[in-house]
Amino acid sequence: MGAKKITCLSCSQINRVSDDKPLDQAVCGTCRKKLIPTKAMDIDFNTLNKAASTDDIPLIVDFWAPWCGPCRSMAPEFSKAAEIVAGKARLVKLNTEVHKKAGTKFGIRGIPTMIKFKGGKEVKRQSGATQSAAIVTWALK
Ligand SMILES: [Zn+2]
Repeated sequence: MGAKKITCLSCSQINRVSDDKPLDQAVCGTCRKKLIPTKAMDIDFNTLNKAASTDDIPLIVDFWAPWCGPCRSMAPEFSKAAEIVAGKARLVKLNTEVHKKAGTKFGIRGIPTMIKFKGGKEVKRQSGATQSAAIVTWALK
């Protein structure tokens, strides 16, 4: 029986979740928070680095900033998409104003930008605000 590596979005501990356990009920062994939140959580640079390089389920990161109008208009769409894909992919947000190093490391030139990480590496990225249905399709494909 295999196991999935999933980084806790709250405390950045890397967890191993056995394949025979339902993902939506899995909790972090360290902080006991849910590993698959249905909300798009804001994460920090450290958590992003771990999750992007480790996780066995796809991670979609919305790089945003509070001063960015298109980012703010996309936020509810991204949240809606996060609920829809919960369990298949994790949608998270990273505030590039607070975590400037993250924007630099991942070469973010314009926001909002979404990056999809899978199997420890970036598989694709897209810039510009978009609707929830399009985000869902993009996240799962
Ligand atoms: Zn935790």
